Amino acid sequence: MLTSPVSAVRGVGARRAEALAELGVRAVGQLIAYLPTRHEKLEAETPIGDLAVGVNAATRGEVTATRVARRGKARFEAVLIDETGRLDLCWFNATYLHGSIVPGIRLRVQGKAQKFGPGLQMANPKHDILREDAEPPMREEKLRPVYAASSAISSRQIGQLIESVLPAALPLIADHLSDDFRAQHSLPTLAQAYRMMHQPAHDDEVKAGRRRLAFDELLMLQLALALKRSMVRQSTRAPALPVGPQIDKHIRARLPFKLTAAQDRVVKEITADLARPEPASRLIQGDVGSGKTAVALYAMLAAVANRHQGALMAPTEILAEQHAATIRGMLEGSGVRVALLTGSLSAGERSATLAGLRDGTIDIAIGTHALFSRAVDFKSLGVAVIDEQHRFGVHQRLALRGKGEGVGTMPHVLVMTATPIPRTLAMTVLGDLDVSLIDALPPGRKKIVTRVVDSMARQEVYAFVRTRLDAGERAFIVAPAIDRETMEEDSIFEAGGEKSAQGGPDRGAVGEGSAPLSAPPPTRPALPTTVADLLAELTAGPLKGKKLAALHGRLPQPERDAIMALFRAGAIDALVATTVIEVGVDVPEATMMIVEDADRFGLATLHQLRGRVGRGGKAGACVLITSTASPVAAERLGIMAKSNDGFKIAQKDIEIRGFGDVIGVRQSGMPPFVVADLARDLDLLTLARRDAAAWLERSPRLDTPADKLARARLLKAHGKWLGLADVG
Ligand code: ADP
Ligand code: MG
Repeated sequence: MLTSPVSAVRGVGARRAEALAELGVRAVGQLIAYLPTRHEKLEAETPIGDLAVGVNAATRGEVTATRVARRGKARFEAVLIDETGRLDLCWFNATYLHGSIVPGIRLRVQGKAQKFGPGLQMANPKHDILREDAEPPMREEKLRPVYAASSAISSRQIGQLIESVLPAALPLIADHLSDDFRAQHSLPTLAQAYRMMHQPAHDDEVKAGRRRLAFDELLMLQLALALKRSMVRQSTRAPALPVGPQIDKHIRARLPFKLTAAQDRVVKEITADLARPEPASRLIQGDVGSGKTAVALYAMLAAVANRHQGALMAPTEILAEQHAATIRGMLEGSGVRVALLTGSLSAGERSATLAGLRDGTIDIAIGTHALFSRAVDFKSLGVAVIDEQHRFGVHQRLALRGKGEGVGTMPHVLVMTATPIPRTLAMTVLGDLDVSLIDALPPGRKKIVTRVVDSMARQEVYAFVRTRLDAGERAFIVAPAIDRETMEEDSIFEAGGEKSAQGGPDRGAVGEGSAPLSAPPPTRPALPTTVADLLAELTAGPLKGKKLAALHGRLPQPERDAIMALFRAGAIDALVATTVIEVGVDVPEATMMIVEDADRFGLATLHQLRGRVGRGGKAGACVLITSTASPVAAERLGIMAKSNDGFKIAQKDIEIRGFGDVIGVRQSGMPPFVVADLARDLDLLTLARRDAAAWLERSPRLDTPADKLARARLLKAHGKWLGLADVG
């Protein structure tokens, strides 16, 4: 019966069947699985004569008269009668109701009755028009499920269909969790859970039903991920890269500073991973400036010391070049050979580099995403580090298979990010990563003072910039767009970083618009500030005589390199740039970050931008210029002024803009949850993860007869995106 088409249900003709199909419901089982999006509380009904003043209540009766009143506030009025009395109803600004509420119909209303002349009136009550076969009056409060409906079928009609099949269907729903397991976790059976969702007796049943179904989703996902993990583990090895005291000493000797305690702890976590012949997948989180590069270098050198290779993938060429320069600097005279592989190598350089990676004469490769494309063969990649790209999910990691020594090997993978990823996402969307946290900054960091400044005061800002440039300091000045033709932001982050999505000129506005209590969109100047305009303005006016240059992703690579080199060397005083400089750029002499139209950027982007300054000995200043009138935008920028803690800022950003926008949940390939909600189900997720591990401990391949149902359901939900086919 569960697999029969819905058209087999009484009352479902071709039209209904089609309407249901549009909602994704074709079989009876799918109808049962079509869960309400919420539950509406229906008050118990009171006869009209017993209604009390000021108390929320429901009642029903017959409509005996109606009228549209246009004097004063436009309103629709009706008189409702039952055998105990009369109730006047009125709806303001709802004169259209005269089309549906007509004398003679029966109506159920819910609201607060007030004294009205000699009788009672209910203003703006919720109402249901009762059909011939309406349910009898309810003497007890009831929850009514509300289903996502369409113009072709209403929530009520869906509810009635479900109600009609439920008694016969529920006993047929088999449970993939054993009685023992359920008892241990106080979970209802699957059939009970569906009943509780569709026909809850009270709130607690909705909760219990929801918990069971959410837990199922999370458990299935965790089982699938764990299964995938163990498959990868069985079929894929990584080189064991033990780091003894000798190697550790040598590596540390290469760093120009002592690692902070936080870096040390993370290095320990990494070396523990590397020592095992199984591919590690670890997420390294650390705020801007916390020193992730040194940790990455440590891991790569651990590979090199064990006669394997290391690779570091950066989201932009500028950043790749900078990493190459820093790392070459630290490795000077060590004999470790470092190569840069970016899209702008000449054909000759490229083929030489590829040959070096293949024959192992290159120890460490640094580059953009092209680094891990099919065309690039490593002799034996031991450690792959992905910088500032937390969308690097399970698929991308698996694409590294075969980059190790021989078939069936893959490197250990470290993903580094300054954007705090909630544990829930690391454990799900990203395909279950271990997490390390660098939770302190290196000593001697100067605090960056952040000011939000109205655009009316721009000239004062640039006067201040000028005095500091005169004193030999350097500045970044960021504009939202390159020029008038290209209003989109620089697309240099399209390699998959979230940055472009966040910094895009429209995104800020969307974020504000969707936030609660948002004001109408602020009026914007006709055009966003552009690099071109700003450069012209500053050169002619406030920064006249200073050496300025434009920097953005559309400049050819050699030109960008040259400009960065001049800026580093002090031959350029200020860069007028897009967010290409957002991630990772490290110029210690830069002390000022000026952002025009700052409200157009996401908070994480602004925090990254701010992290570019104050890296040397001198205190940094960050000025966020805005002309927004939106209080929400002002609040967002205010957070920047108040906090220097990237994790706190990201948390706020998530609160204001929601999860999906901040991290690319949609791109992961993971099917969306129907019931579970990562924003609030961390406890269930943790439980599910533990249970999944325990389950596979008992039954590593999930192939005992008792697992049969769970396994089938798991493969149905996750087989495809995780490529679990070979399990089934
Ligand atoms: P991020 O985590 O943002 O990638 P970086 O690795 O670029 O940070 O490091 C930021 C700056 O801090 C660099 O200039 C780096 O040389 C410096 N740094 C990193 N670790 C330490 C340390 N333990 N002591 C002093 N300076 C450090
Ligand atoms: Mg970095």
